[in-house]
Amino acid sequence: ALALTGCSNDREGTSSGDSGSGDAKGFAKDGLIGVALPSKTSENWVLAGDLFTNGLKEAGFKSDVQYAGASTTVADQQAQITAMVTKGAKVIVIGATDAAQLSTQVAAAHQAGAKVIAYDRLITNTPDVDYYIAFDNFKVGQMQGQALLDGMKAKKPTGPWTVELFSGSPDDNNAGVFFNGAMDVLKPAIDKGDVVVGSGQKDVKQTAIQGWKAEGAQSRMDSLLNSTYNGGKTLDGVLSPNDTLARAIITSVKGAGKPIPVVTGQDSEVESVKSIMAGEQYSTINKDTRKLVAETITMVKSLQAGTEPQVNDTKSYNNGSKVVPAYLLPPVIVTKATAAEAYANDPKLSALTK
Ligand code: BGC
Repeated sequence: ALALTGCSNDREGTSSGDSGSGDAKGFAKDGLIGVALPSKTSENWVLAGDLFTNGLKEAGFKSDVQYAGASTTVADQQAQITAMVTKGAKVIVIGATDAAQLSTQVAAAHQAGAKVIAYDRLITNTPDVDYYIAFDNFKVGQMQGQALLDGMKAKKPTGPWTVELFSGSPDDNNAGVFFNGAMDVLKPAIDKGDVVVGSGQKDVKQTAIQGWKAEGAQSRMDSLLNSTYNGGKTLDGVLSPNDTLARAIITSVKGAGKPIPVVTGQDSEVESVKSIMAGEQYSTINKDTRKLVAETITMVKSLQAGTEPQVNDTKSYNNGSKVVPAYLLPPVIVTKATAAEAYANDPKLSALTK
């Protein structure tokens, strides 16, 4: 289940510089670093794997980079982490497939003396996670909520606006944080009646898409269009938590022959940047995977040297067992109007904005 309760996202009191989990001792410069990534549910994961393999090698480490398969994701990842522990990994970097299903494996990692870094997604209900590194997920959600409002106002200056809400996979702790961030912005407008959720489905459980699967988003959108919007009611906007789901939602709307509403996204996937430039998807978020991987490798280097990695948030990520010291990077909202500037230092994406 979604670990919303154990994972308050307290926006106050971020601090910097200290904390972590005690007696750092360091290890050999060519120590083994394990990287366990989820299945390839979005481009960022594909990119991360290559960047870790190359970056860790360049930094002089041995590495073992693994992805969970497409179907037996949890069992795959559990077995991969266990194998990394057996091989003597000094640090294990984990992008969890299911936040709450890794406590046994990370406990074994700690017992063997390895450090555990939760990468992009928090690992919940265990004390055996040392650091969390990610883009600021709550801010991502706030930016999505704001973009939805801005996009709808630009098209139709006065409300009320009719929307539908989508959220990510319930086993990914990020999904709830993104949704809460978006609702932080949207709820006041919903309470005032300026924004109306056409189907009435406002709960994170009703809006969730298992496994972040495009098919799931497309079929939920199909059924909303066939019910709530059957009689010709206009749909002004859709809160989509990422690009994969955004494109599935747009495909559904197009298939129904309806005008494309304002649709948000996240990840700056190539196909979505193209869609934004073509005036279809409204927004995405730039979370530069190159930066996130580079900062993670910086953390690994600190641990190798026996020093405490830098963190900048020691409040927001309570995983139900402890507050995990976090290093959060700033996400960037991107629309057609800002794409050229936002991707200026990313040759692949920048080429799409020309
Ligand atoms: C990541 C998103 C991604 C999603 C699906 C989330 O945990 O933060 O960037 O879109 O997983 O892969």
